[in-house]
Amino acid sequence: MSDNLPPELISEEDIQARINDLAARISTDYAGQGEVVLIGVLKGAFIFLADLSRRLTVPRSIEFIAVSSYGSGSKSGAVRLVMDVRGNIEGKHVLIVEDIVDTGNTLNYLIGILKSHGPASIKTCTLLHKAGCAEVDVEIDYVGFGIGDEWVVGYGLDYAEQNRTLPYIGNVTPTD
Ligand code: 5GP
Repeated sequence: MSDNLPPELISEEDIQARINDLAARISTDYAGQGEVVLIGVLKGAFIFLADLSRRLTVPRSIEFIAVSSYGSGSKSGAVRLVMDVRGNIEGKHVLIVEDIVDTGNTLNYLIGILKSHGPASIKTCTLLHKAGCAEVDVEIDYVGFGIGDEWVVGYGLDYAEQNRTLPYIGNVTPTD
Protein backbone atom coordinates (compact mmCIF):
# COMPACT_ATOMS: atom_id res chain seq x y z
CA MET A 1 0.00 0.00 0.00
CA SER A 2 1.25 3.48 -0.77
CA ASP A 3 2.32 5.78 2.05
CA ASN A 4 0.16 8.53 0.56
CA LEU A 5 -3.21 7.41 1.85
CA PRO A 6 -6.26 8.77 0.02
CA PRO A 7 -8.37 11.34 1.88
CA GLU A 8 -11.31 9.89 3.80
CA LEU A 9 -14.78 10.18 2.36
CA ILE A 10 -16.64 7.65 4.55
CA SER A 11 -15.13 6.54 7.85
CA GLU A 12 -14.72 2.96 9.01
CA GLU A 13 -17.19 3.63 11.85
CA ASP A 14 -19.83 4.97 9.48
CA ILE A 15 -19.42 2.02 7.12
CA GLN A 16 -19.75 -0.48 9.95
CA ALA A 17 -22.80 1.26 11.42
CA ARG A 18 -24.50 1.35 8.02
CA ILE A 19 -23.82 -2.34 7.45
CA ASN A 20 -25.53 -3.08 10.75
CA ASP A 21 -28.60 -1.20 9.48
CA LEU A 22 -28.56 -2.98 6.13
CA ALA A 23 -28.12 -6.40 7.75
CA ALA A 24 -31.06 -5.74 10.08
CA ARG A 25 -33.31 -4.65 7.19
CA ILE A 26 -32.31 -7.57 4.97
CA SER A 27 -32.82 -10.02 7.85
CA THR A 28 -36.31 -8.64 8.47
CA ASP A 29 -37.23 -8.73 4.77
CA TYR A 30 -36.09 -12.33 4.24
CA ALA A 31 -37.31 -13.72 7.56
CA GLY A 32 -39.28 -16.94 7.14
CA GLN A 33 -38.39 -17.31 3.45
CA GLY A 34 -35.71 -19.96 3.81
CA GLU A 35 -32.17 -19.49 2.60
CA VAL A 36 -30.96 -16.40 0.77
CA VAL A 37 -28.04 -16.85 -1.63
CA LEU A 38 -25.71 -13.86 -1.37
CA ILE A 39 -23.84 -13.39 -4.64
CA GLY A 40 -20.76 -11.23 -4.23
CA VAL A 41 -19.42 -9.45 -7.28
CA LEU A 42 -15.65 -9.88 -7.48
CA LYS A 43 -13.38 -8.40 -6.72
CA GLY A 44 -14.65 -5.22 -5.14
CA ALA A 45 -17.48 -6.62 -3.00
CA PHE A 46 -15.48 -9.24 -1.10
CA ILE A 47 -15.01 -7.24 2.11
CA PHE A 48 -18.54 -5.82 2.13
CA LEU A 49 -19.94 -9.32 1.54
CA ALA A 50 -17.83 -10.74 4.39
CA ASP A 51 -19.07 -8.15 6.88
CA LEU A 52 -22.70 -8.08 5.70
CA SER A 53 -23.11 -11.85 5.54
CA ARG A 54 -21.88 -12.35 9.09
CA ARG A 55 -24.47 -9.94 10.49
CA LEU A 56 -27.55 -11.48 8.89
CA THR A 57 -29.84 -13.51 11.09
CA VAL A 58 -31.50 -15.48 8.28
CA PRO A 59 -30.12 -18.68 6.70
CA ARG A 60 -27.69 -17.72 3.93
CA SER A 61 -25.13 -19.16 1.57
CA ILE A 62 -22.38 -17.47 -0.40
CA GLU A 63 -21.61 -17.46 -4.12
CA PHE A 64 -19.35 -15.29 -6.23
CA ILE A 65 -19.58 -13.97 -9.76
CA ALA A 66 -16.93 -12.04 -11.64
CA VAL A 67 -17.32 -9.57 -14.47
CA SER A 68 -14.95 -7.24 -16.18
CA SER A 69 -15.43 -4.17 -18.23
CA TYR A 70 -13.74 -3.75 -21.60
CA GLY A 71 -12.97 -0.18 -20.58
CA SER A 72 -9.65 0.62 -18.91
CA GLY A 73 -8.79 2.48 -15.72
CA SER A 74 -11.76 4.47 -14.49
CA LYS A 75 -13.67 4.48 -17.79
CA SER A 76 -16.59 2.08 -18.00
CA GLY A 77 -17.07 -0.10 -21.06
CA ALA A 78 -18.99 -3.18 -22.23
CA VAL A 79 -19.47 -5.74 -19.46
CA ARG A 80 -18.20 -9.31 -19.89
CA LEU A 81 -18.75 -12.39 -17.70
CA VAL A 82 -15.45 -13.70 -16.31
CA MET A 83 -16.79 -16.28 -13.83
CA ASP A 84 -20.38 -17.44 -13.35
CA VAL A 85 -21.81 -18.71 -10.05
CA ARG A 86 -20.82 -22.31 -9.27
CA GLY A 87 -23.78 -23.41 -7.17
CA ASN A 88 -27.29 -24.13 -8.42
CA ILE A 89 -29.47 -21.07 -7.70
CA GLU A 90 -32.59 -22.33 -9.45
CA GLY A 91 -35.67 -21.69 -7.28
CA LYS A 92 -33.63 -19.80 -4.66
CA HIS A 93 -33.83 -16.26 -3.32
CA VAL A 94 -30.82 -14.37 -4.63
CA LEU A 95 -29.33 -11.15 -3.31
CA ILE A 96 -26.63 -9.58 -5.50
CA VAL A 97 -24.03 -7.83 -3.33
CA GLU A 98 -22.13 -5.10 -5.18
CA ASP A 99 -19.46 -2.68 -4.01
CA ILE A 100 -20.59 0.25 -6.13
CA VAL A 101 -23.16 1.08 -8.79
CA ASP A 102 -22.17 3.85 -11.19
CA THR A 103 -23.93 3.77 -14.60
CA GLY A 104 -25.90 0.65 -13.62
CA ASN A 105 -24.64 -1.28 -16.65
CA THR A 106 -22.84 -3.95 -14.60
CA LEU A 107 -25.79 -4.58 -12.28
CA ASN A 108 -28.21 -4.67 -15.20
CA TYR A 109 -26.00 -7.22 -16.96
CA LEU A 110 -25.67 -9.33 -13.80
CA ILE A 111 -29.43 -9.43 -13.28
CA GLY A 112 -29.82 -10.71 -16.84
CA ILE A 113 -27.23 -13.46 -16.34
CA LEU A 114 -28.65 -14.55 -12.98
CA LYS A 115 -32.25 -14.53 -14.21
CA SER A 116 -31.24 -17.13 -16.79
CA HIS A 117 -30.46 -19.51 -13.88
CA GLY A 118 -34.14 -19.43 -12.79
CA PRO A 119 -33.97 -18.10 -9.20
CA ALA A 120 -37.17 -17.62 -7.16
CA SER A 121 -36.32 -13.91 -6.75
CA ILE A 122 -33.49 -11.45 -7.33
CA LYS A 123 -32.79 -8.41 -5.17
CA THR A 124 -29.84 -6.06 -5.24
CA CYS A 125 -27.66 -4.51 -2.57
CA THR A 126 -24.79 -2.08 -3.04
CA LEU A 127 -22.57 -0.35 -0.50
CA LEU A 128 -22.17 2.74 -2.68
CA HIS A 129 -24.32 4.36 -5.35
CA LYS A 130 -23.24 7.20 -7.63
CA ALA A 131 -26.73 8.54 -7.70
CA GLY A 132 -26.46 11.01 -10.57
CA CYS A 133 -24.65 8.67 -12.97
CA ALA A 134 -27.34 6.20 -14.08
CA GLU A 135 -27.35 5.20 -17.76
CA VAL A 136 -29.79 2.33 -17.32
CA ASP A 137 -32.81 2.07 -15.09
CA VAL A 138 -31.96 -0.68 -12.61
CA GLU A 139 -33.68 -1.17 -9.28
CA ILE A 140 -31.45 -1.23 -6.20
CA ASP A 141 -33.18 -2.62 -3.13
CA TYR A 142 -30.54 -1.83 -0.50
CA VAL A 143 -28.08 1.08 -0.71
CA GLY A 144 -25.40 1.87 1.86
CA PHE A 145 -24.39 5.39 0.84
CA GLY A 146 -25.08 7.71 -2.08
CA ILE A 147 -21.92 9.46 -3.33
CA GLY A 148 -21.03 11.94 -6.05
CA ASP A 149 -19.29 11.33 -9.35
CA GLU A 150 -15.80 10.67 -8.02
CA TRP A 151 -13.46 7.68 -7.99
CA VAL A 152 -13.45 5.93 -4.64
CA VAL A 153 -11.13 3.31 -3.17
CA GLY A 154 -10.87 1.25 0.00
CA TYR A 155 -13.07 -1.33 1.72
CA GLY A 156 -12.60 -3.66 -1.29
CA LEU A 157 -12.52 -1.01 -4.01
CA ASP A 158 -9.33 -0.27 -5.90
CA TYR A 159 -7.68 2.02 -8.34
CA ALA A 160 -5.24 -0.02 -10.45
CA GLU A 161 -5.35 -2.73 -7.72
CA GLN A 162 -4.22 -0.31 -5.01
CA ASN A 163 -5.94 0.56 -1.71
CA ARG A 164 -8.44 -2.34 -1.63
CA THR A 165 -7.62 -3.11 2.00
CA LEU A 166 -8.12 0.36 3.45
CA PRO A 167 -10.74 0.13 6.23
CA TYR A 168 -12.43 3.36 5.06
CA ILE A 169 -13.66 4.75 1.72
CA GLY A 170 -11.37 7.38 0.28
CA ASN A 171 -11.30 9.26 -2.98
CA VAL A 172 -8.56 9.55 -5.55
CA THR A 173 -8.10 11.47 -8.77
CA PRO A 174 -7.73 8.98 -11.64
CA THR A 175 -4.94 9.82 -14.05
CA ASP A 176 -6.64 8.46 -17.20
P1 5GP B 1 -21.28 0.58 -13.64
O1 5GP B 1 -21.40 -0.60 -14.56
O2 5GP B 1 -22.43 0.73 -12.71
O3 5GP B 1 -20.96 1.85 -14.40
O4 5GP B 1 -19.98 0.37 -12.81
C1 5GP B 1 -19.90 -0.60 -11.88
C2 5GP B 1 -18.48 -1.07 -11.72
O5 5GP B 1 -17.51 -0.05 -12.05
C3 5GP B 1 -18.26 -1.38 -10.27
O6 5GP B 1 -18.60 -2.73 -9.99
C4 5GP B 1 -16.80 -1.10 -10.09
O7 5GP B 1 -16.06 -2.24 -10.48
C5 5GP B 1 -16.51 0.00 -11.07
N1 5GP B 1 -16.54 1.33 -10.45
C6 5GP B 1 -17.40 2.35 -10.74
N2 5GP B 1 -17.10 3.43 -10.02
C7 5GP B 1 -16.05 3.10 -9.22
C8 5GP B 1 -15.28 3.82 -8.25
O8 5GP B 1 -15.50 5.00 -7.93
N3 5GP B 1 -14.25 3.13 -7.67
C9 5GP B 1 -13.96 1.84 -7.99
N4 5GP B 1 -12.94 1.28 -7.37
N5 5GP B 1 -14.67 1.14 -8.89
C10 5GP B 1 -15.70 1.76 -9.52
